[in-house]
Amino acid sequence: MPRQAFVNGRYVPHGSAAVHIEDRGYQFADGVYEVVPVVQGALIDEAPHLDRLERSLCELRIAMPMTRQALKLVSRELIRRNRLSRGFLYMQITRGVAPRDHKFPEGAKPALVMITRQMKPQSHQALTEGVGVISIPDLRWNRCDIKSVSLLPNVLGKQEAVEAGAYEAWMVDPQGRVTEGTSTNAWIVTQDNELVTRDASTSILNGITRLRLLDLIRRDGITVSERAFSIEEARQAREAFITSSSNFVMPVTRIDGQPVGNGHPGLLTGKLREAYLGFVEGQEESA
Ligand code: PMP
Repeated sequence: MPRQAFVNGRYVPHGSAAVHIEDRGYQFADGVYEVVPVVQGALIDEAPHLDRLERSLCELRIAMPMTRQALKLVSRELIRRNRLSRGFLYMQITRGVAPRDHKFPEGAKPALVMITRQMKPQSHQALTEGVGVISIPDLRWNRCDIKSVSLLPNVLGKQEAVEAGAYEAWMVDPQGRVTEGTSTNAWIVTQDNELVTRDASTSILNGITRLRLLDLIRRDGITVSERAFSIEEARQAREAFITSSSNFVMPVTRIDGQPVGNGHPGLLTGKLREAYLGFVEGQEESA
């Protein structure tokens, strides 16, 4: 069976799947999305991803296109049809199709698209050597807590990172504090061994991996500070790492070309990665 996508109620061949040219996602970025990791065919942390999806929709006053239960059924069916073992499920919901006009259209139905993508295991080199990040100004709006499809500053930031030979860009607010990566949350271990990640506010996307890791950390009795940290503090940190649904926990060993700590992935970073992988394994087994 060729790879399929789910578009507004129908399973269609991925290669010819299409939405209308006046979909408001296309014209106004008037929509939201979620990316749920899939490991051994199991959706990892599906419930909090769906909670965040519902929250993003609610903030933008877009209705759920189908019930949560129906979304779960379609997700599983698409994973089954595409024989997806390791990768992710992408869901996108926009305000729907209507003649172009900024105000909310009357009677438009929210549009739903789901795709899956197979992914290779994470790069061994990146995991053992760590990756580099650069710092850039955060050019985004004041509602970064909404997982909106409006990602232009993130796209430009990631491209800047790639062109600088780095893996990710950490965005820095006007006060000189790191908000997050273009598609990841940022963490450091300071010189005083304080594990720090920015507090959840409208300035960052509250990552599901971030939330899960916070939960695992606290269960382990490790203390963590949810607070803003400056890019200076990050440059002098002992350890640094990023979290996201596609990276899980990835060590950062260079910030703006300078080594972090001894230039190797940190011990606590490794321990937290193991803890997160243990959690993922548990989810596979219970699926
Ligand atoms: N911040 C931003 C801006 C992101 O796009 C993402 C990835 N969706 C994250 C953080 C990490 O979130 P999650 O752990 O839910 O993938």
